[in-house]
Amino acid sequence: MDADKIMDICVRRGFLWRSCEIYGGVGGFYDLGPLGVALERGIKDLWRELFVVQEGGYEIDTPTIMPEVVFVASGHVAKFHDPLTDCASCKKSFRADHIIEEAMGRNVEGLPTEELDALIADEGIVCPECGGALAPIRYFNLMFRTSIGSTSTGGATAYARPETAQGMFVAFNRIMRTMRPRLPFSIIQIGKAYRNEISPRQGLLRVREFTQMEAEVFLDGRNIGTHPRFDTVRDETLRLFPREEQLKQDGVIVEMPAGEAVDKGIIDNPYLGYYLTLSKFYLLAIGIPWEAIRFRQQLPDEKAHYSRDTWDVEIETSYGWVEIAGHAYRTDYDLTSHTRVSGKDLTVFLPYDEPKVEIVRKAVPDKGALGKQFKSAAKEALEFIKERNADLVKVKDDGKSLEAKIGDEMVDMVPFIEVREVEEKVAGEHIVPHVVEPSYGVGRILWCVLEHALKEEDDRTYLALAPHLAPISCGVFPLVNRDGLPELAKAIEKALRDAGIDVIYDAGGSIGRRYARCDEIGVPFGVTVDAQTLDDGTVTLRERDSKKQERVPVDDLPLVLGVLLAGEGDVEAGCGPCAGCE
Ligand code: AMP
Repeated sequence: MDADKIMDICVRRGFLWRSCEIYGGVGGFYDLGPLGVALERGIKDLWRELFVVQEGGYEIDTPTIMPEVVFVASGHVAKFHDPLTDCASCKKSFRADHIIEEAMGRNVEGLPTEELDALIADEGIVCPECGGALAPIRYFNLMFRTSIGSTSTGGATAYARPETAQGMFVAFNRIMRTMRPRLPFSIIQIGKAYRNEISPRQGLLRVREFTQMEAEVFLDGRNIGTHPRFDTVRDETLRLFPREEQLKQDGVIVEMPAGEAVDKGIIDNPYLGYYLTLSKFYLLAIGIPWEAIRFRQQLPDEKAHYSRDTWDVEIETSYGWVEIAGHAYRTDYDLTSHTRVSGKDLTVFLPYDEPKVEIVRKAVPDKGALGKQFKSAAKEALEFIKERNADLVKVKDDGKSLEAKIGDEMVDMVPFIEVREVEEKVAGEHIVPHVVEPSYGVGRILWCVLEHALKEEDDRTYLALAPHLAPISCGVFPLVNRDGLPELAKAIEKALRDAGIDVIYDAGGSIGRRYARCDEIGVPFGVTVDAQTLDDGTVTLRERDSKKQERVPVDDLPLVLGVLLAGEGDVEAGCGPCAGCE
């Protein structure tokens, strides 16, 4: 694997390149070219097939810019930051944990700034660019800030979303009302995310704008120990790199069935086990070799404070092991936080089999006091008391306050209620769902797919991309540019396009050079039109990896290629699906 070689192919052949090249490029931003777009589409389609079609997730598409309040609730305004240090001499900024990691070969992500400062001092770490002294570390928030509306009046502070997830949490109620799902279910989103990374690096691996594919799986937290389909994947082997192994000098990857890992408590729960197994299926389907995949458990310092267990999916590349996806058990943190800040009820009602009669403690509004205080806004106050009844009982019991925005004012609602015990027929209960989140980065996956597809043998370089992922499916080549061959080849090109097969027509240079050009961008099949085509209506069909060639009737080409592109059949079997038939 050679990152420079792949980047060279990517830029030269139109997979991707630095954005705004004519102005010198912008760090951390890339354009996807025609081949990159096609490859990315294949990567996304396969993921969608798994998470939306097979798993039945509800896919939505929400804006990339969201108001500040969303990120106050999610904790990103307060906590989504990286440790930054500046060089006193060259004034360049660096991500402190990264330069320490490079200097010491130790993962220090998530350590407090004082500890990082101490490591820089103790180890004598200096600016990696000029050797200058490094300033004390400060936190840098990674969100891109902007404003919504007229800037002459200041506009409203907003941010480009740093993950697609928040759009799904804030749309939770709407999905509940429109789709009427039952727990567990997932909301899915594929879209752009933005992070103003301190030091973008390693090509597509750390950029400032990237595409995520995320699933928020909502579940009843009391049932975290039973996933409805876990039994279907229990026996699937996973390559695990648990916390304990990482802390050993010579820790190893442990191969173990998902069921055993969950039963032994290595993986916290069957939900995580289930989605890690889906990751395995997905990565194998896009051509990542089994030995290049591992599931690494995050260490306590790396994990978000609300997460009970998080596993990263990592792929081995020329840059080392690269995290391409995270699987976090986020408990009820997200919906609880958005309930607290929005004041909206984000619970799910779970009916009992039979209604129960219960003595319940309720917050009863003092309507007289409400009318006096809020006048025409009293209805709003009543609505708040209804929606947040249980919370009001709790804060009153605890001697605390609970503020509501009524009209334009923030008012403590506790003085306006009384807590009474009442007998009630209870049909069910409200719970705040917990969340397990598989979160994938498309750009990193695309890079890993390319690294593992690159093959160099004898005198040729080719991308052994799975046929269903290849950006272009078939090359069409007239052997010579005369005797009616180009016309025939053009007609074949049209017939294949009409059959929905992506084609590249190439009539330039020797046939060997044309094969080589197609091999380099991973075109899995090539069709050569030659003099024999004029005689018997057959063409040569060539397979990229094996270089096998077979004569196939022109009329059969769309069908044969359709089958081969679906990963079935074999070029040598002649007319593929029709092999053996008359
Ligand atoms: P996180 O929310 O940090 O767990 O990120 C989820 C996934 O998004 C990661 O596993 C990566 O695949 C991807 N990702 C995060 N940050 C970046 C970045 N700066 N550049 C490219 N991909 C990223």
